[in-house]
Amino acid sequence: MKNDINLEDLETAYSYKSNKELKFTHFIFSILQNQRLVKLLIACTNGILKYNLPFKFLIKKTVFNVFCAGEDINKAFSKINYLETYKVKSVLDYVSEAENSDEFFENNTKIIVANIIKLGKECPGNYVSVKITGLEDPKFLTYRNAMDLENESIISPRFDRLIERINLICKTAYSAKVIVFIDAEDRCMQDLFDKITESMMQKYNKEYAVVFNTLQMYLKDRLKYLNTLIEEAGRKNYIPGIKLVRGAYVEKEREKARKEGKTSPVFDTKKETDDSFNQAVEICLREFKKVDSCIATHNNDSTLHAINCINKYNITNHYSKVRFSQLYGMSDNLTFNLSVNGYNSSKYLPYGEVKKAIPYLIRRSEENSSIDGQIIDEVVRLKKEIERRNKL
Ligand SMILES: Cc1cc2nc3c(=O)[nH]c(=O)nc-3n(C[C@H](O)[C@H](O)[C@H](O)COP(=O)(O)OP(=O)(O)OC[C@H]3O[C@@H](n4cnc5c(N)ncnc54)[C@H](O)[C@@H]3O)c2cc1C
Repeated sequence: MKNDINLEDLETAYSYKSNKELKFTHFIFSILQNQRLVKLLIACTNGILKYNLPFKFLIKKTVFNVFCAGEDINKAFSKINYLETYKVKSVLDYVSEAENSDEFFENNTKIIVANIIKLGKECPGNYVSVKITGLEDPKFLTYRNAMDLENESIISPRFDRLIERINLICKTAYSAKVIVFIDAEDRCMQDLFDKITESMMQKYNKEYAVVFNTLQMYLKDRLKYLNTLIEEAGRKNYIPGIKLVRGAYVEKEREKARKEGKTSPVFDTKKETDDSFNQAVEICLREFKKVDSCIATHNNDSTLHAINCINKYNITNHYSKVRFSQLYGMSDNLTFNLSVNGYNSSKYLPYGEVKKAIPYLIRRSEENSSIDGQIIDEVVRLKKEIERRNKL
């Protein structure tokens, strides 16, 4: 197995981008570097949501173009096929975060189910991701999470409908042989998400993990949860699918805890989050015979750590046991260098109407403009590759 991988081979990293696309991406990332400008743009974007202002076209031509595959499923599928020519898989992510009604949740479920069937038939080996808040109102989910913690078993047709929706998605995925990643969201709903996802994993993860739970390793309690999950899955005789992320809502979690006068559930420092993430990688890969994992990160050190673990634990079948994933539009140096070196690597590929993708785009813009984000490296890499091509 290879362990001399160069994650900074930029020719490979950007081989799928034309010169024009490369320059455009560099331009967008240069703008995102400016925190003040991003704050201003986000304020305008919120205005679009509230007042239906006509900036949609501008967003579509800029950040949407860089971070999303398109507005409809055909555009998304042509991107999946294109990435496949570079041996990069896709996690199809129907982005739809802007509404709250039963009709809207039913419709989202139908779209996700149809996507799974289409993927299974036309692009086997690619995946789907699901946000539970796209299937029920976050307020109801938060309320239900608190109820469950108090061990109150309440009869609720509304909750039963949610379980039916999730079960339909997982059952379809099982039949179509398409892996489903259930995303992690706010901590105040996560115990409920864990419980639901565990029950789906128990039902469908028999020969391999069809359903994956997501663990945000910035949470102080996740290493303990990870160990318990692996132990319980062993007892209940299923293979847990574990997607590891650091976590996307640091400031939101801290602010919420502060307002409620509670201790923040998130580690106080980046170093603690990094250590927790890397420990989780080590645990999942050490237990590779019992666990299927997805290392979802843009962090070079964590990626190299995972590769070292693959070698250390001699995971010869790592292609089917360990997946790597990055968000579309970010860290191409990891995705494409991993894939050419024989690792299972993928892009989280969001698609959907521009308006419904705005919360997702705001998260990406904020993440990329934060001081400790990796935007500077991204801009340097893009610039280097533009210069290399200019010399040809
Ligand atoms: C394929 C994929 C799927 C994803 N799915 C989800 C998901 O389902 N749910 C979700 O929440 N996120 C998800 N994310 C986003 C992810 O959680 C991170 O926000 C993002 O990837 C940045 O972290 P990193 O590991 O790439 O690297 P880095 O850039 O090294 O780390 C940045 C992260 O470190 C943590 N951090 C930064 N500063 C501090 C601090 N002062 N104290 C404590 N921690 C700190 C934060 O989590 C921050 O996002 C996903 C990311 C990818 C690549």
